[in-house]
Formats: sequence, C-alpha cells, structure tokens
Amino acid sequence: MGSRDKLLGMVCLCLLSLPFQAQRLSRDYNVDVLVNQVGYMPGADKVCLVKGECDAPFKVIDIQTQEVVLSGNWAPYSGDFGTWSRGDFSAVSRPGHYYILCDTLRSYPFEIGPAVYRPAIDLVVSYFSRQRCGPSATGYLSPCHLDDGIRMDNGKHQDVSGGWHDASDLRKWVGATIYGMIGLAKAYEAGVGDQAKIRDELRWGNRYFLHMQEPDGHIMSYIGGDVQKHSDSNRWTDNIVGEETGELQMVKPNAGRSPHDMLIRGTKDDRIIRTDPLELTGQFNFITAEAMTARIMKRSDRKYAGQCLQAAEDCFSWCLKNDVPFETGEIGASMLASLELYKTTKRPLYRDFAAMQAKILRTRQADTGALKGFFFTGQSNTEPYKNIWNGCQALIALCDMVKAFPKHQDVPTWKAMIDLYARQYVETLAEKNAFDMVPFGLYLGEDPGGGRRAGEYWYRYFMQPELDWWVGVNANLASNGIGLLKAADVLGDQNLKALAQRQLDWIIGFNPFNSSTIAGVGYSHPKHFPGSSFSPLTPVIPGAVLNGLGGNHEDEPVIGNGDWQISEYWTPMVAYTLWLMGVLSSG
Ligand SMILES: [Zn+2]
Repeated sequence: MGSRDKLLGMVCLCLLSLPFQAQRLSRDYNVDVLVNQVGYMPGADKVCLVKGECDAPFKVIDIQTQEVVLSGNWAPYSGDFGTWSRGDFSAVSRPGHYYILCDTLRSYPFEIGPAVYRPAIDLVVSYFSRQRCGPSATGYLSPCHLDDGIRMDNGKHQDVSGGWHDASDLRKWVGATIYGMIGLAKAYEAGVGDQAKIRDELRWGNRYFLHMQEPDGHIMSYIGGDVQKHSDSNRWTDNIVGEETGELQMVKPNAGRSPHDMLIRGTKDDRIIRTDPLELTGQFNFITAEAMTARIMKRSDRKYAGQCLQAAEDCFSWCLKNDVPFETGEIGASMLASLELYKTTKRPLYRDFAAMQAKILRTRQADTGALKGFFFTGQSNTEPYKNIWNGCQALIALCDMVKAFPKHQDVPTWKAMIDLYARQYVETLAEKNAFDMVPFGLYLGEDPGGGRRAGEYWYRYFMQPELDWWVGVNANLASNGIGLLKAADVLGDQNLKALAQRQLDWIIGFNPFNSSTIAGVGYSHPKHFPGSSFSPLTPVIPGAVLNGLGGNHEDEPVIGNGDWQISEYWTPMVAYTLWLMGVLSSG
C-alpha cells in the first residue's frame, strides 16, 4: 500500500466515524395537501385541501425565495366524500412558483401566472397530432388506415382516411371525435395555444368529417367501430385499398393476427364504413364544428372556408327534415349549432331557430320543488336529463346567446334559465362536497346507489358502475366548468367562476387520489390502459385527457387499475378539457 492509499484509507475511516453517518439520510414527504398540480391564473379563486380536521396553519411558500407569502387557517368542511380542511389562498396572485406547507404535510409545486395553462394546452393539441389517422407526419404509427374504407350499403370503396383515432382504440366514431373539432376551434377562438398548429389540426380532422358527409347533407356514423360485433373493425390494416370483388363476409383472421373475427371483403382487410346516419346530436355537433372552422379558415383559405360552411348548412337543412321531436340533449346541441351558424353568416333564420329551441327548452326546466333548475329528458319524459358528454351544452348555448343577441326580447328569459340552472341546480349540489365537484346527475325513483338525496331526487357524482357502460367524469366536469364560467360572466357571479375553476382543479390532481388525469401533466396518474384487441397497442400519449376518476356503487371515487372506463382517452374528455383551459386562460 503506497502512502497515497494509506491517506485515502484514513480519510475513509474518519468519514465513517462522523456523527451524521449514524443518521438516516433520506426524508419522506407527505404530499397530502391537494392543489391543482399545474397551477392557477393570477386572478383565479385558489383552494387547497387536506383530509380530516387540521389545526396547524398552512403557509404558501415562494419556491425561489423561500419566502412565506401567505399564512392561513383551514376551514373544516363536512359533506359528501367525508370531512376535509379547506384553505383559501386566492389572495396570492403574484406570478411565480409556490408550494403549500402545513406542519409535516406539503403540496406538489405549482405555478401562478397569466400563461400557466399554455404548456398543457400545447400538449393537448399535440395529443391530437399523435392520434392522427392516415398519411400524417405525426401519427404515432403513421401511415395507417390509408385503405379506409368500404361502404357498408353498397360495398364500394370511399376515401374516408384522415381524422383521429378515438380513445385507446383505432376506431373513428364520428359522434365522439367530432368533439375534437369543437374543442380545438374553441381553444383557437379563445386565443390560446399555437394558432397555426390548431388550424393545421382542424384541417387534418376535418379531412375525415367532410368525407363522411353524404350528398343529402347528413353525416355517416363511423369507420373502425363495431359493424356487426364488438371490435370487429378495431384493427391495423395493410394500407392497400382492396379490390371490389365478392360480397362482404365474416371470416376468421390468420392465427395470431387478431383475437376477433374480421369483417372483410375477399382477402383484403379494408375496414367498413357504417353508412347509416349518425344520431342527431352528432349531426348538430358536426354543424357547430363546420360553422366554426369556416370562420377560422376564412382569412387563410376562403375557398376551404366556403366548403366548410356549405357542409354545415347542408347538414342543418337535413336535420330540419327530421320530424322526430327533439330530445333535450339534441335541443342543446341544435342551439349551439344554429348559434355558430349565425355567428358565421349573420343570417337571422339561425338566430330565430336558436331562440325557438330555447323556448322549447324552457318548458322542460324544473322550476318548482326543493331542487330546481335542471332539465327533464323530454316533453313527456320527467326523468332529469343527464349525459356524460353533452349534459351542459344547453347552458353553454344560452349564455352564448345572451352575448350574441343582447337586444333580443327573450334575453330576460334566457338569463332566468341560466340563473336557475347554474345557481339552483349545479351550485346547490356542488356545495355538498369539499371539492365543489359538479354531480353527474339526478335520478327519479329507486336509490341508484350512494343514498344521496336532494329534494325529491337522488343524485350521483359518478355514473353507476352497474351500467352496460360507464366512464369517468372528466367530460362532465369540464363541460360544466365551461358553462359555469360563461354563467358567471352573464350573471356577474364570482362564486360561479370559482366553481368553474374547481372542475379543472379536480381533473389536474385536486381529488382524493391526488391524481392528475392528463397524461404528461402533473403526477400520480391512473394506470395506463393500452387497448386490447390489436398490436401494437396504444402508447401513453402526452396530452391525453383520461376519461377520469369513476365511482363505485356507493358513489365514492375510484381510480381503477388500468380499467378502460377510467384510463382511456375518449375524445370528448380531451376536447372539453382543452376548451375549459382555453376559456379559463382568457378570462
Ligand atoms: Zn389509423
């Protein structure tokens, strides 16, 4: 051993004998203070939560300076989901990075700033780029499905490539993915995100939707969905358009190719276009999407804008030929559609149609009883209306109508309807839990599970897990957030604005699992669901908004174990969350 080695040996012995060697060098943190894991706009209402009753004051600490910028006391709040302590730190508005500390508890770090949601908005827009179907430069397994597809009614090939895959699947449901157009267009009009990228994404999505429109104006249902049985078209294809020979037939695929039978033509694997008309809400959502896209593209491509507007007006004419009485959800969608057509064309007939639909809606609004303001499902159907995707479209449309037609004679009626819905119904129920979470809906008759009573109705925050299908509630929360923010503006009510913020907070971690439900944003996400019937499976896509937390029979929140109901990326959830971040950013 040389003298240098001896020296090193002595140093090591010394280190081992130092007192700190006896200490535990790691520290665990209790990240139990719940916040929006991204953060807040400077003027937003800001609330943090901890489970149970907490006596010690909480501190908001500036991460860069370690300065305590606010010290506050918790307020206990007992209600649905148990007892929690709420801390209000709305007074902190200076842009910066902060965390909340309370004794041994802390929060994740978060930001306060005027562009706080910009990175998340950009990421959600890029989610659509990764889900592109067709010969895109960005799709996660591009090129794909260049051979979409074969018409189910006559067996002929029709090019319906383009658009986006829905969920953690390869299906292109028009009814679901059309919300992507609306969410992107609303974010664009809110002036947030990369405007050129959003225009580009709208165009990619619309390549599919325009091709799904029939000459008489209506839009067809889907391609890649379940044509004759579950998942029979949810597969990758060889990208080669098949020859038009032989009849459509069910065959067993090659071993190992797919666990499902495939509906194919001859030996080709082209997917089938379900040619029957999409349901009416989807038709109206298509009109909304095309009317907005026409407006957005007018400056950059006048010819294309004209094509979109024509598509919207043709579909509107087709919808009016339907003599079926409109169900409540369809009325909300039709009001939005005609309003957007008015904004694009300024034609009075669209304003008058929206006003007429609002009159019908008024007759379906509960205005007596201990709990009021919600809408019934139909003229003779007194079940309260609830829908995981479009339950809030009517509120959104009414608020936009007040803004678009301020001198209309029905404005006082519309405002009264907005007041009833937002304050008497949504706010009343959201105040029953410490998170201010908006419920999924009301139920007549038997207890649907959870035993939650309001007036003569039952209510639940989550869909019943016993149903044929149920999903997490992110679309319901985000769409209500949009409606509440607009109602806050119309009624001049700051409490409603705070409620709107809380719906986004829940989606980004302010929930009992401290779990962000946007992939690539925040922490502690529900486990990934990759799909099941094709290979390769759907990867984790940054910017994907998951369906969201669900509920058990007792209506208590559950995070699942990679279940599709919670962890899939359904387009309405993605779209409404993008839209909500957009309007919160511009407010
Ligand atoms: Zn594809």
